Amino acid sequence: MPASIDHVCEYFSSLERLSSRLEMARTLGGLLKELDVPELAPVVYMVQGQLAPPFRGGEMGMSSKLVLRAIERAISDAAIPLNESPERLLGVLGDPGVLVEQLLAGRTGKALPVLSVFEELCALSVQSGEGSQEGKVRSLAELFLSLSPLSARFVARFVVGKLRLGVGDATIMDAMAQWQGGKEAKSAIEKAYNLCSDLGRVATALGREGLDGVLSLRPVPGYPIRMALCERLSSGEEIFDKIGVCAVESKYDGFRCQVHSDGQRVQVFSRNLEETTSMFPEIVEATRVLFGDRTVIFEGEALGFNSETGGFHPFQVTITRKRKHNVLEKSLEVPLKALVFDLMYLDGESWLDRPFRERRKQIEHVFPVHAFAIDEYETAPSGVFGTSRLIVADHPSLIDQFFDEVLEEGFEGIIAKRMEGVYTAGSRNFNWIKLKRSYKEALSDTLDLVLIGYYPGKGQRTRLGIGAVLAAVYDPDQDAFVSIARIGSGLTEENWIILRQMLEESVVPSRPASVFSDIEPEYWVDPRYVVSVRADDITRSPQHMCGKKDGEDGYALRFPRMVSHVRADKGPLDATTVSEVKTLFYRQRNLLSRHRKPEKPEQSGRLEDGGVEE
Ligand code: ATP
Repeated sequence: MPASIDHVCEYFSSLERLSSRLEMARTLGGLLKELDVPELAPVVYMVQGQLAPPFRGGEMGMSSKLVLRAIERAISDAAIPLNESPERLLGVLGDPGVLVEQLLAGRTGKALPVLSVFEELCALSVQSGEGSQEGKVRSLAELFLSLSPLSARFVARFVVGKLRLGVGDATIMDAMAQWQGGKEAKSAIEKAYNLCSDLGRVATALGREGLDGVLSLRPVPGYPIRMALCERLSSGEEIFDKIGVCAVESKYDGFRCQVHSDGQRVQVFSRNLEETTSMFPEIVEATRVLFGDRTVIFEGEALGFNSETGGFHPFQVTITRKRKHNVLEKSLEVPLKALVFDLMYLDGESWLDRPFRERRKQIEHVFPVHAFAIDEYETAPSGVFGTSRLIVADHPSLIDQFFDEVLEEGFEGIIAKRMEGVYTAGSRNFNWIKLKRSYKEALSDTLDLVLIGYYPGKGQRTRLGIGAVLAAVYDPDQDAFVSIARIGSGLTEENWIILRQMLEESVVPSRPASVFSDIEPEYWVDPRYVVSVRADDITRSPQHMCGKKDGEDGYALRFPRMVSHVRADKGPLDATTVSEVKTLFYRQRNLLSRHRKPEKPEQSGRLEDGGVEE
């Protein structure tokens, strides 16, 4: 029997009241068990607050004003008597969901099938053009009147993009494992998700064919593969000790582009899996020229190219492309080069499980080779595509020397890659190891923190309306954001104001279920914005929740300051994790007692020659 929206929303109501991740997974698992296969993906997307997987931009994000108009219209159509205007009530309640629930109290809905409500919302979201606002108000008002008050609450929150059940992707995957296959299924589910970034697709496979369905999922052009990420180490020697003879590449500071072609349509996805195709018309064109009707998925870093000097622009110049307008004009002003560094799929076959050495050989075969050994790297790539610069290092000193050279060229560091390493979708591990200049300093690297709250300014800052933010790291074990620092410096006044305006939009009335913090900011915000932060030190502290357990202190940042505004390329799940903070903490302690000078290198080579790997 088809599930009704009211039944699904009863579950949402239970989920909303839970704070234990295990309980949430159990409850959601119970709901999944009751659904028919075609209902699985829509319900999973709804739990995510979307109409489609996030990379298709499925959030409705209707304005509260429009939803208020729909509520007013519903009330008037149904001639529901009012003591107070809905607008005033909304001012008091602050949540269109609670408002509509209260105003419809006592009515019964039509128990519409969840699928038809989902389709209705999809239809609403694509209405555009003249008269579409009115059309949306009308349809939404009608929808409210056919829902139970409880369902209307969740639908109203959903359409304004504030469903906030507190259920993260990791919990949804736990719920799937609860429903089918238990603990053993969990890693297969995660792996399948890493291949397609679409939990609806994974749930459908699970519903249709059980664990076998999940195990048989493969990468498909059009579905971004969750990106492989680097671990950090702080010297050539450490890297060599860890992975031995390895490929070492420049770490370019541009836009990571995962390029997909299904033989007809070319799409580009960013570091945080947003579609960025329209930003890179020349990459789209070059992919068409190079691959024609072949299917492919590959990755590279896109950098602004200075045709006068033959060098690359710093990130600040490359990023001017981010302005959505005039991309074409910008592409002429700041031409791009995409330096390809990985290949994941070709001619209908996944390359993810092949060793790096094979993938790299194929890259060198398919893409114009522009830069390998140091001597050959005099001129910049001539086409849009080049391959990343690479040496094969059979000695730690080679890694250190390459590192020094790329810094001289103005790049931010190197990435060492394990020769036999597979492409580990969605995971940060030692198959790739980054070494940046900052790692040689006391506190290595910046941290990417999620903003969870803010404080109004005092004194000089009063007029900015913001004095500090409360920030967190991600804890994958709890699928939660745990506080690590209060930050009050690093931005210009103008940027503080912009930040405050962004945060105001995402203020929530109380601490979100996915946020753990003993410190109460003046305003809690939805954990969605990520900023890069530098600090002098990581210290142990009883105040913060990062790494805090069983009477043990947590970790905190000393003298934190923001070194970036909100990062468009990172979502909250891309934030630094608790275990990374711990590693940085211990590395920082070890570093104080160690200093090593690189020795003279002996040789370097290109991979295709066999280099020095034998
Ligand atoms: P950061 O903030 O330090 O750039 P990150 O969290 O985005 O790091 P990491 O996995 O730590 O990601 O570092 C890898 C990033 O480096 C990739 O996301 C990619 O954009 C970039 N990069 C630049 N050059 C290369 C390369 N040759 N190989 C792989 N990644 C590269």
